[in-house]
This record gives sequence, C-alpha cells and structure tokens, in this order.
Amino acid sequence: SKSTALPLDNGIVYTSDGTQVLLSVNVNAPTEVDAVPAEVTAGIGLMRSEFAVMSLGDAANEEKQFAIYRHLLEWADGRPVTIRMLDVGGDKPLPGITETSSLRGIRLLLARPQIARVQARALLRAAVFGNLRIMLPMVTFPSEVDDMRQICREEAGELRRRGVPHRTPPIGMMVEVPAAALMLDEFNGADFFSFGTNDLTQYLVASARDEAGFSLERERAVPAVLRLLTQAVKLAGGRPVSICGDMAGDPVATPGLLAAGIRHFSVAPARLGAIRSALVGLNADGTKAAGD
Ligand code: PEP
Ligand code: MG
Repeated sequence: SKSTALPLDNGIVYTSDGTQVLLSVNVNAPTEVDAVPAEVTAGIGLMRSEFAVMSLGDAANEEKQFAIYRHLLEWADGRPVTIRMLDVGGDKPLPGITETSSLRGIRLLLARPQIARVQARALLRAAVFGNLRIMLPMVTFPSEVDDMRQICREEAGELRRRGVPHRTPPIGMMVEVPAAALMLDEFNGADFFSFGTNDLTQYLVASARDEAGFSLERERAVPAVLRLLTQAVKLAGGRPVSICGDMAGDPVATPGLLAAGIRHFSVAPARLGAIRSALVGLNADGTKAAGD
C-alpha cells in the first residue's frame, strides 16, 4: 500500500530548481496537532483561535486560553506558531458578543477591547514558551494594527505590574480584505503578512463564501486573485509573506502561487502531502519541472 508518511524535513521543501519553500499547518481545534509530528512542518502558519475560544464557552477565561496556546507552542518545540486573534462575527458567532454587533474580526475586537485584552494577556504569557507570532484578522486599515499593538503594549504593562512572566511577540496581519492587499506598503505596523484567500476571493467577486455557486465563482476569480497577490507580495517590501487560505492547499493553484512569489504555504494537515508533491515537481516560477 502507498505510504502516507511525510518526511521529517521540518516542512522545508525545495522546488525542482532548488528554491526553498516552507510548509506549515493550519489548526482549528487545538487537539488537531496531537496527530501531526511537528517535524513534518515548519510550524503553525494559522491557528484559528475563535474555534478554541468558542468551545471554551467563555471568551473571558484567560487561564484556559493561556493553557491552549502554551500547549501549541510546546508541541511546536521552537518552530513558529502563528495564532490569530479572535475572528468572530460574520459567519462565526460568539455567544454574548455577536448578537449585539454586526462587526467582524479586528473591528469587533477594537469595539469590544475587554475581550481583546484577555486574549492579549493569554498570548503574551504563552509567548514565553516558544516562538509565538500574533496575527490580526480582517484588517482593513493601518490604524487597526497600531491600535491592537497599543492594547498589547498596555497589557504587557499590566502583566509587568503583576509580576507575571510574559514576552511581546511579532504582530502581523491577515491579508484578506482587498483594500488592505492593495495598500500593503502602508502597513508599517505589521511585522508579517498572511494571505487569506477565502475572504479575499469572496470580497473580490462580491459573493459570499457560504453561498451556493461560490465554488464556480472562486474558480473563475483565480486570475484576479493571483494578480492581486503578485502585486501585494511586492508591496510587502521584503517582510515575511505566507498564504493560509484554502487556495494554499489546492495543488491546482500551486503553480500560480509560486509564480506570484509566495514561498510559504500553510495548509490543513491532510493537505501537506499533496502540496509537498506539487512543489517538488515545479520550478520556482511555477513552470513544470523538466521531465516531470
Ligand atoms: C481566509 O479567509 O482565507 C482565512 C484563512 O481565514 P478564515 O478561513 O478563517 O476566514
Ligand atoms: Mg478569513
């Protein structure tokens, strides 16, 4: 039978012509990592904290959040772990919060800073246990990054006063709103970027990702998405860039993403093998390897 075991290469893959590409994993439920050896990954490229916090049933429980983030950092054993702050609103409800607001992602966090502050403290405390990166969801304007940075700074001060060990990790952002993608060079407050093609696509084609017919629209939108990503990679000005939307886990999209200049893919654990195979059979410009 065909072996599905992945090489213990730390998610470092080389294209046919020798360009290095990183392969990380996306995590929804924190227990998902227990079935994946960290050695087959370059770390966690996206942890969707909203699912873990939703199942806690209490967004104000700092200790339980801290324990979840610490568990992921210990699993990763020094590899980067990118935890996205709560992305609720829209199609992701959070009881007690989304009933009374139509905002989503970072706008909701900034409108309800008490929730963001609890999460910021849990993250800053967990950061002591590994290589954490904080990622902000649904960012549209540069001031949103600056405002969340300020909240993290204030909570670091609070932890310092309490004598609680903590560290302030790099803070980056999802690029999943077209207005942000087009203006990436204006986001001086972001330490890194990750493309969220699920939301990026739905907002580019004026559709909804849970709408019947969206899969066809998504396919037809690929050239527009790739053109936007190509432009945005250039605007990132050398800051780290990755992709964590579902497009990253689709081998049909791999040539176009390589051609757009993307060198770090974060995919669901079940997609690691398929994307690894796609990458090794391609050149860095997305063309097929000779004799492949
Ligand atoms: C995305 O929008 O592509 C993304 C990765 O975020 P989510 O799917 O959680 O909205
Ligand atoms: Mg998204």
